Amino acid sequence: MNVLLVYAHPEPRSLNGSLRDFSVKRLEDAGHVVQVSDLYAMKWKASLDANDSLDRQADARFDPALDSQRAFENGRQSKDIALEQDKLMWADAVILQFPLWWFSMPAILKGWVERVYAYGFGYGVGEHSDARWGDRYGEGTLAGKRAMLIVTAGGWESHYGPRGINDPMDDVLFPIQHGILYYPGFDVLPPFVIYRTGRIDAAAFPEICDALGQRLDDIGKTAPIPFRPQNAGAYTIPELTLRPDIAPDESGFAVHIA
Ligand code: FAD
Repeated sequence: MNVLLVYAHPEPRSLNGSLRDFSVKRLEDAGHVVQVSDLYAMKWKASLDANDSLDRQADARFDPALDSQRAFENGRQSKDIALEQDKLMWADAVILQFPLWWFSMPAILKGWVERVYAYGFGYGVGEHSDARWGDRYGEGTLAGKRAMLIVTAGGWESHYGPRGINDPMDDVLFPIQHGILYYPGFDVLPPFVIYRTGRIDAAAFPEICDALGQRLDDIGKTAPIPFRPQNAGAYTIPELTLRPDIAPDESGFAVHIA
């Protein structure tokens, strides 16, 4: 498989740096072709702004969505954006690897998503009408590709358990896994999460690598999280609400998983 690893940690000698090196080697040893987008090393520009579209009139009002659409459709996007889109189209599987910072991804990675997921590429894809609300949530540009998160967290596993004070990790990661990965079509594999990073040392590291290595070995066959597709009948259109007979009386993130 072609695997794209989008990696966001500023320090190569970090735990994340070691895990990235391990992952690349493990995947290559298994015969996969790997590309890494090392966002800090690339000095990735994190802010979506008017400079992302070439040929704009300097005094024109900047519209983040419409300027993105025009630039994408006319091949006038900033080159760094187009290159990352090419990598996404090349990949059969995409891994986002990052330390959990303030219950989410580091800003540089969020900025990668905001800029690379152009209008017409990451969103605004397919027919939009009263009968059909676009190709998204299971359909879209990246449908048929697999995606997985590798996340390190300072908190303990219990802090992210069903009644943990930080909320369950599945809930913390829901906006990324459902909103950022499933939305443009990826099949999203369960995340690989490493907890309590402050306790990790030379004795613990090999065990983590064993578990991560197994997940990487299985990247082509692990069953995805069964998020409910938007356009297969579970949701009413155009309200985009789960049908009342599905998971009745339930609400929240979990109802979107079959
Ligand atoms: P490092 O600090 O580089 O390493 C962690 C440990 O692993 C160290 O003890 C190091 O010695 C050891 N190590 C590194 N490499 C190796 C190796 N090759 N072999 C053996 N041992 C090794 N945590 C949360 O749970 N929730 C949050 O919301 C959250 N927000 C944060 C916000 C910010 C701004 C910051 C800075 C931290 C936050 N944290 C949070 C903690 C954060 O998630 C962890 O600090 C991070 O995941 C650790 O990853 P790292 O790669 O930076 O680890």
